[in-house]
Amino acid sequence: MRLVFLGPPGVGKGTHAKVLCAKHGLAHISTGEILREAVASGTPLGGKVRSYMERGLLVPDELVLQALRRRIAEPDAGAGFVLDGYPRNLKQAKDLERERVRVDRVVYFSAPEEALLKRIGGRRTCEACNRVYNVYFDPPAEPEVCACGGRLVVREDDREEVVRARLKEYAEKTAPLIEHYRARGLLVEVDAEGDIKTVYDRLENAIGKTGRE
Ligand code: AMP
Repeated sequence: MRLVFLGPPGVGKGTHAKVLCAKHGLAHISTGEILREAVASGTPLGGKVRSYMERGLLVPDELVLQALRRRIAEPDAGAGFVLDGYPRNLKQAKDLERERVRVDRVVYFSAPEEALLKRIGGRRTCEACNRVYNVYFDPPAEPEVCACGGRLVVREDDREEVVRARLKEYAEKTAPLIEHYRARGLLVEVDAEGDIKTVYDRLENAIGKTGRE
């Protein structure tokens, strides 16, 4: 199974990707996580992408493509994967086709903007293992501490002014992919409002169907 997860920031793509991948033995490929790790460990890639990420802007296509190529070539991706946050614009969708990366389904998670802002406002990410909690919907057992013992922090780009820029980038550049993939018969839509379990059940149900149904 080779899936693309598409949807606005804060819709829950990463949370559901982690669960789905663990359950079905798929590789979870989040370009956002790859780029954040590059920034945190100070690699040359990290140095190039940092200022874009801090401003909530998309990173140049060629840099993300290089990172994606490396990750997709790793052995675990051979069994199938979820691309979480890639492609983010039409150029990247074309790059994926040019690289001959076959995609079986594109899952579009939809939710109204107020719900996204509340979710992002409550989001806390583990510094050590990247697990994501939400103080409103999915709080940790001990405040500000992950189950792995790591410290929970607010992602730099989850600050309100950056979130507004990310939503704008999404609306202008990423949302056109919905029609792009619908026209190719690959799109399945998941209503992402509701609790995590309800949305996850909808996801499992949706990927059991083909895009043309
Ligand atoms: P995410 O964790 O998916 O919300 O991504 C966080 C940030 O990483 C985005 O705001 C972008 O700056 C950058 N990023 C992640 N994926 C991509 C992509 N496919 N193309 C360009 N920038 C990306």
